[in-house]
Amino acid sequence: MSPAGPPQALVTLQLRTRSAAATLALAESLGQALRPGVAGGLVLALEGDLGAGKTLFVRGLARGLGLNPRVAVPSPTFVLAQHFDLPGGAELEHVDAYRLGGVAELEAAGLEDLCGLGRVTCVEWAGRVAEALPEDRIEVELSPCATDDSRPSPDAAASVNGPGEVRNLCLRALGPRSAALLAGWTVPSLGEGA
Ligand code: ADP
Ligand code: MG
Repeated sequence: MSPAGPPQALVTLQLRTRSAAATLALAESLGQALRPGVAGGLVLALEGDLGAGKTLFVRGLARGLGLNPRVAVPSPTFVLAQHFDLPGGAELEHVDAYRLGGVAELEAAGLEDLCGLGRVTCVEWAGRVAEALPEDRIEVELSPCATDDSRPSPDAAASVNGPGEVRNLCLRALGPRSAALLAGWTVPSLGEGA
């Protein structure tokens, strides 16, 4: 019998970035580290409010996976899913479930076969379609960090008027394949301090 409740993380990484560029670079580095897992299929489930940085993260990840830098990675909010060809015949699916009420709507949109071999599937607002995702996946949760205790803010108004530029990122591997890949990733130092 499988245990009840949400899957437990096998590997958890708590990171922080201080700029969009740092999040891009961090995600690009992760994309490079995930390359060995692409043939077997990979799923990244992204969580975080609007403007947290989910699309930006996927943009960086795509670069690290080898997507041609001239190919734009726009937000798929209105088209639900975007497909990209990666080197070596692999594929990237970038899904935004924000407008989906649940798995039934995913199927109605013809998106039930998003995950598979040779494919990296990145799903924004993944919680809305969690039942359609394999348990062995990497969760990426981004959250703006209003109070940055470690150094004085150059723009004190940021925490009052908007989310500012500091983001906490929590990466969790929920299965053995994801865990092996995440554990093998050497996190660049800019993830902590940039
Ligand atoms: P989401 O897809 O979560 O709605 P986006 O990636 O579209 O969010 O937008 C994130 C916004 O936040 C971008 O305008 C980006 O420049 C800005 N931003 C500022 N600081 C950061 C950071 N540290 N990491 C990610 N995005 C950041
Ligand atoms: Mg987005």
